[in-house]
Amino acid sequence: MSPSRTIDCLIPCFNEQESIPALLMEIARLAEEIGNSFSEPLSLGLILVNDGSTDDTQSLATHELEVLAGFDRKILINLSRNFGKEAALLAGLRQCRSEACIILDADLQDPPHLILEMINLWLNNYKIVNAVRMDRSDDLLFKRLTAKAFYKIFDRFSHLRIQFNSSDFRLLDRVAIDAILSCNESIRFSKGFFAWVGFKQANVYFKRPPRKDGATKWGGWKLWNYALDGIFSFSTSPLRIWSYLGLIVTLIAFVLGMVAMVRTLFFGVDVPGYASLFTAVTFLGGLQLVGIGVLGEYIGRVYIETKQRPQYIIESTTELE
Ligand code: UDP
Ligand code: MG
Repeated sequence: MSPSRTIDCLIPCFNEQESIPALLMEIARLAEEIGNSFSEPLSLGLILVNDGSTDDTQSLATHELEVLAGFDRKILINLSRNFGKEAALLAGLRQCRSEACIILDADLQDPPHLILEMINLWLNNYKIVNAVRMDRSDDLLFKRLTAKAFYKIFDRFSHLRIQFNSSDFRLLDRVAIDAILSCNESIRFSKGFFAWVGFKQANVYFKRPPRKDGATKWGGWKLWNYALDGIFSFSTSPLRIWSYLGLIVTLIAFVLGMVAMVRTLFFGVDVPGYASLFTAVTFLGGLQLVGIGVLGEYIGRVYIETKQRPQYIIESTTELE
């Protein structure tokens, strides 16, 4: 009999006490289905990263993992505080020793049954399998529009095509995991890494169900900052825009200056236009402040990167039997 191929499921959890029992029940059912569905022997592992939950996630996860069947490796990583989903994913990926890793959310919004299809594609040699939402009809109009705008801007600025409407729900082959882990930056935008590393990729499509229990941890402000991280981490175009904008404004100023000079020479001194002067001064002031702001975004990120702080601190890692 050929040695079994190894796959880990990686689930970041932050205050998911309501979701964990149902999640692990689904995961156990999935393990059984995987056992029955493939001719190749597959050995499964589960890595839960408790991202500094303040509710009962840790004790509940420990208890539920102890009794969970169908997994050969069960690991619970507890971070010392809430470091954010990106850091939790990184901690989990670093812990993964298997030939592939499947990332999914704890709230069952990433339907586990899709994993069978993802594994199938992986066995057919795809190195990354993206789960893509068929539509965003469940989202509010504002979220749909802003998400669309983000993908368009990211695409234009970074020249990197991130999979439209994909979350972090994916299967990564070992080569893709190693490639992602070789990116050392501390401000991490996984969606960008998944596209940036390349490899042969496939998509599976699904309709995302609403969250059953608990509440989303991604409010508008957090999403806005996440979008900025994505754009500033993968593109320097926002910096370069200012050279061109500056050039255009200088040219306009030159033409206006010439017009003013000619008018003064031929028609005498005339001091009109309090309103136009006021508008020009405030407009240029605003433009410069935005420019400084964009510079600040990059400088802030350079500052954070130079400190080389770890992206998270692990309080404990428990391997359950
Ligand atoms: N999550 C995390 N740390 C955080 C925020 C979220 O580990 O600081 C986890 C969360 O427990 C869930 C996943 O990331 O498993 C997605 O979070 P959520 O469901 O709140 O996001 P949404 O689906 O609303 O985008
Ligand atoms: Mg969710």
